[in-house]
Amino acid sequence: MSENIQSLFAHNRAWAAQMERERPGFFTSLVKQQTPKYMWIGCSDSRVPANQITGLEPGEVFVHRNVANIVVHSDLNALSTIQFAVDLLKVQHIMVVGHYGCAGVKAAMDGTRVGLADNWIRHIQDVRDRHAVLLESLPPEVRADALCELNVAEQVVNVAVSTVMVDAWSRGQQVSVHGWAFGVHDGLLQDLGITADNQRPLDALYKAAVQRIRFKWGKPPELAMPVREKPAVITPAHTDHDGGAPAAEQPATQND
Ligand SMILES: [Zn+2]
Repeated sequence: MSENIQSLFAHNRAWAAQMERERPGFFTSLVKQQTPKYMWIGCSDSRVPANQITGLEPGEVFVHRNVANIVVHSDLNALSTIQFAVDLLKVQHIMVVGHYGCAGVKAAMDGTRVGLADNWIRHIQDVRDRHAVLLESLPPEVRADALCELNVAEQVVNVAVSTVMVDAWSRGQQVSVHGWAFGVHDGLLQDLGITADNQRPLDALYKAAVQRIRFKWGKPPELAMPVREKPAVITPAHTDHDGGAPAAEQPATQND
């Protein structure tokens, strides 16, 4: 085994010893059962680790990750994981988490060929094509990040329409599906304001999320950039972009 691989085992032994020293009985209690309240559906990207980002410990978050956090209607891997989380573990919150700077989303946006994964990324291109008018109205440099958010909204709906969620909600189980985005550049999570909980029609939820995304990224480029690149002083000049946004482009309200 290479030295690098050996170092992983060394780190693991040190971590296990530290945990047991600080929290005697931690691992023996984990053996008995896992009772996570949360399920995380995120990108496989190594910069987006669910537990570290949320400060959750082993046993506290049930995780499914794939390239660009996609939930396909017939993906038995994702659906089985969701079903286990909802039916057996009784998680209360499912978070679909995209991230800015996602290579899968960028490839979908640009039509870059990467290999077999093109067929997987095609699902995001479907989202891109569905919102082609919106995306083409945005500055080119923010389109991929806007598509990242649109993809999250799309996947929240895909989770919500799965038989797992439909059945759970029909029997009165309390479980919500949230849409979040993670900033690799600042380490912060954003709630995209699309939470499916069977209390509101999904289509209204989806449309409101798309409107928020349109308004957010439709600002002048210098205001729509990720936080680290924003100017220190933000003027209100964006309020009349494009000579005044039509009603459909106004930010969604709580009542939408
Ligand atoms: Zn990614």
